[in-house]
Amino acid sequence: MELLSPAGNFEKLKAAVRFGADAVFMGGPAFGLRANAGNFSFDEMEEAFKYLHDRGKKGYVTVNIYPQTNELESIRQYLKKCEQLGADALIISDPGIFSIVKQEGIKTPVSISTQANTTNLAAVNFWASLGASRVIMAREVRKEDLVEIMKNAQCEVETFIHGAICISMSGRCLISSYMTGKDANNGECTHPCRWNYALMEEKRDGEYFPVYEDDRGTYLYNSKDLCLLDRIGELVKMGSASGKIEGRMKSIMYVSIVTGVYRQAIDLAVKDADNYKPLPEWRHLLESVSNRGYIEGFYGGEYDTNAVNRETSGYSRSAAFLGVALKDSSNDELEITCRAKFAPDEEITILTPDLKKIKVIPEIVLDEGNNKVEATRPNYIYKIPFKDKAPEGSLIMRF
Ligand code: SF4
Repeated sequence: MELLSPAGNFEKLKAAVRFGADAVFMGGPAFGLRANAGNFSFDEMEEAFKYLHDRGKKGYVTVNIYPQTNELESIRQYLKKCEQLGADALIISDPGIFSIVKQEGIKTPVSISTQANTTNLAAVNFWASLGASRVIMAREVRKEDLVEIMKNAQCEVETFIHGAICISMSGRCLISSYMTGKDANNGECTHPCRWNYALMEEKRDGEYFPVYEDDRGTYLYNSKDLCLLDRIGELVKMGSASGKIEGRMKSIMYVSIVTGVYRQAIDLAVKDADNYKPLPEWRHLLESVSNRGYIEGFYGGEYDTNAVNRETSGYSRSAAFLGVALKDSSNDELEITCRAKFAPDEEITILTPDLKKIKVIPEIVLDEGNNKVEATRPNYIYKIPFKDKAPEGSLIMRF
């Protein structure tokens, strides 16, 4: 099973590759459903494909909006450009965009996006009969159906294994569009499903009547995040071609750690899927990145009464992200780019791409002019004494 990670920008793409992704998915300059992610210019996409291909990895481009007719000509040119730049697949939801790929004779394989909401075997094979190479299943499919689908599918099948989920059916949500004018189906979701709501009588402006779900608040639609870490053995066994981690808007820490955990999980499952059992340490690491609490979504086939996070619309995480190693450690020193403040006498942890945790109290932190500092500042470069080995891209964290 391929491990497929999100690449919101080039830095995150490199983080995903360092921590073990086989492939990444990214948005180009338009039409990619994450208007607020960093996304890639055409020049960056070209550079990204070279970076990936030099390392034996793949890059897929999301073109998964539902366009209006006046956008079709631009999309036609855009699809041709993606092929020319070396995309390994185009991720598409709209049958119109799919038909343009075929009309233009574009050879880049097509994956049908989860946004197309494919929930059954007949729909998978419908797309296969039209020439799709892969279908990314809707997240609303239970295990028994996935087994049947993968046994009989006439193309590859990809499944989501980790990340945020919508309370609505995948790819069929109008709440953001209705409430804010920003259309989730065009990549601009403002996440109103996660807001806290009150009731107001129309003539009593500003008088809010609380809507009590319980005394902590009311987050009626605030779904917890998907985590299929326990199911990786089953997914490998049933023949999932690819396991996708959601989150092009998430941080480098998130992309690195979640990718690193699932890399090790898939490697273990591939060796012996029947006896696959996740390590407690992996769960601990997944708790350290931003999350809304974890559930298995629809995989188990039953409604999970615990699926909504009613406590807060925000995220929780058990560790702080302090920085990233700029290059491989050398000469008993580690150079880092700082993301959050820390002091030289604090214990910090260096997390390497193979998930080794190295605890250090630096005692001395030097700035770029080799001056000792009392505390670091975000976005500056520092050096700390470091006798162990840590490659470029290792994370600096506080657990
Ligand atoms: S508003 Fe919520 S349910 Fe709707 S698309 Fe956005 S995240 Fe998904």
